Amino acid sequence: MASSEQKVVLITGCSSGIGLRIAVLLAKDEEKRYHVIATMRDLKKKDKLVEAAGDAYGKTLTLLALDVCSDDSVKQCINSVKDRHIDILINNAGIGLLGPLESIGVDEMKRVFETNFFGMVRMIKEVMPDMKKRRSGHIIVMSSVMGLQGVVFNDVYTASKFAIEGFCESLAVQLLKFNVNLSMIEPGPVHTEFETKMMDDVAKMEYPGADADTVRYFKDVYMPSSIDIFEAMGQSPEDIAKCAKKVIE
Ligand code: NDP
Repeated sequence: MASSEQKVVLITGCSSGIGLRIAVLLAKDEEKRYHVIATMRDLKKKDKLVEAAGDAYGKTLTLLALDVCSDDSVKQCINSVKDRHIDILINNAGIGLLGPLESIGVDEMKRVFETNFFGMVRMIKEVMPDMKKRRSGHIIVMSSVMGLQGVVFNDVYTASKFAIEGFCESLAVQLLKFNVNLSMIEPGPVHTEFETKMMDDVAKMEYPGADADTVRYFKDVYMPSSIDIFEAMGQSPEDIAKCAKKVIE
């Protein structure tokens, strides 16, 4: 249970990658300033987080199930912590989608928007009234450099992050009047499961109907150089976690 001096931080998508690392970093804060509610859609995936949290698990870190694509799950999760008030919401859950538009079904595209964009909107809508009422709070949203720059064969993922940027830029101004901050983090390449899945997707990728020049550019220029960038400049999830901690401090 959070003490009254501790800030309650709810984080989405903590089963792996950046979300897991933010949860662990904040839960292990030396001054114990945070009580972390680490959420994930499938609690059977909790072992990695529990192991990384060590002694903090059950003390400054507790777990809750949350699927950001489900209205019921979001409401249930937020209702179950209502007595504690959420001081900081970190919208981290997200999925990628790589490939030529010709090979991607509309349902897959909708899943990306359901998770990355509407998942974030659902969470913000649910926590915002209490933050506004208390005239205090901070919402952090995990965007991406792809929220600022389009990237070949990432059309739908990029669009979902652009949507996030536009939404947050608009809402942030309205929230300021209530002393509620909204910040975005825009990571470049980060070494997580996200990256591994992207490479798997490339291996399985089919290009029927896609423009031959774009396919050639993607295979010969974009992918080799982006693998180089990942290897040379890719940040660790810990780096992004430290950045998130700085943003809320
Ligand atoms: P991971 O794939 O490691 O983590 C994504 C997390 O989101 C997982 O915990 C996953 O859970 C969760 N998630 C997916 N769908 C849902 C859902 N419907 N409800 C709740 N949780 C869900 O990727 P990263 O840590 O790299 O990505 C985290 C964020 O950072 C994303 O928003 C991503 O777009 C962004 N980002 C990542 C970059 C990178 O290079 N890695 C670069 C820029 C931004 P589950 O295990 O159940 O699938």
